[in-house]
Amino acid sequence: MKRMLFFITLFLWVIFFAETEVAGAATKILIVPGHDNEYLGTDYRGMKEADMNLALGEKLLKLFSTDKNFETHITRNQSEYTNEFINYFVTELENIHKFIRDKRSAMIQNLNSGEIVEVSGVPHNTPPQTVIDRLYGINKWANENGVDITIHIHFNDVPRKNRNLPGDYSGIAVYIPERQFSNYKNSKAIADSIFNRFYELYAFSNLPKEDGGVVEDQALIATGSNNTVNNAAMLIEYGYIYEPIFQNKKTIDVAISDLALQTYLGIKDYFGWNNVFKSAYFPHNWKSNLKRGINNSLDVLSLQAALMREGVYPPDGFSRNDCPLSGNFGNCTERAVKGFQRKYNLEPIGLVGSKTRAKLNKLYGI
Ligand SMILES: [Zn+2]
Repeated sequence: MKRMLFFITLFLWVIFFAETEVAGAATKILIVPGHDNEYLGTDYRGMKEADMNLALGEKLLKLFSTDKNFETHITRNQSEYTNEFINYFVTELENIHKFIRDKRSAMIQNLNSGEIVEVSGVPHNTPPQTVIDRLYGINKWANENGVDITIHIHFNDVPRKNRNLPGDYSGIAVYIPERQFSNYKNSKAIADSIFNRFYELYAFSNLPKEDGGVVEDQALIATGSNNTVNNAAMLIEYGYIYEPIFQNKKTIDVAISDLALQTYLGIKDYFGWNNVFKSAYFPHNWKSNLKRGINNSLDVLSLQAALMREGVYPPDGFSRNDCPLSGNFGNCTERAVKGFQRKYNLEPIGLVGSKTRAKLNKLYGI
């Protein structure tokens, strides 16, 4: 009888928890495509960072919106900030200023008492006052609206003497609050989870101080400088704006889709999802032969991604920053194709002919 009672109790508990699981509140995500139509961020050969940020933000919004586990907000769309945020910036301006003052003086007290030690990080541009107000306003809004995760979307740049030439650095960097901040722990755990997804296919920033991939920072308003964000927050620099994958007209859209997808999957993993690899680059069917000199090509981009999955890209002696996914078939890809051909006992000729294509299609095609 006791045993019976035990099982009935157990059964009721299981039902209870199953119910709470289903009825559990959705995780609130706030997507902030960096910059806006007034302050455009950086640019390269006619491409504006603000537009790229928005394109990625909208893809991310789409992924989260079709997932009932999440309730998602975005700060702006094609033309402007969404009404929700325009109204908030206007009606709350006084309170935003007070919020900034209060948080700053609290931080000064913490620094003076030694509660928090100042740590200098990667230097950032100081934004105009309007932008400062908006960014702190977004933090205040997130606190008041019970946001769980804020994701700021950016593309990186370094000072370049010639604006038409690429800079020296490349790769992704995920900024999170510095470890003394109250929202560090969750931010770090989620950022690590996203990092693991990016690690499947991408290079991480080789800029000194950014080169850990996940970068702690005290100064970025986006991640909660002056302890202004209660929830997990991160600012993702999805690569440098001048990298070939974003410059190639045929590869930028799918690259941005994949970066959004990896971000989404990383967050899903954090909540205990399955960690199964997925990418916007696959499945892919290669229909024509490929060789050195073919550039700005989706076939080459998916080829590079496949070669990376096979462990032959980047080829030996090269880093991911030397040989990123680009859509351009050059030395890196030629060497990697030879590696692939050796792996599968094909003649290592370094160009993708019918036999190599058949193998690729078998492994990564539909
Ligand atoms: Zn930016």
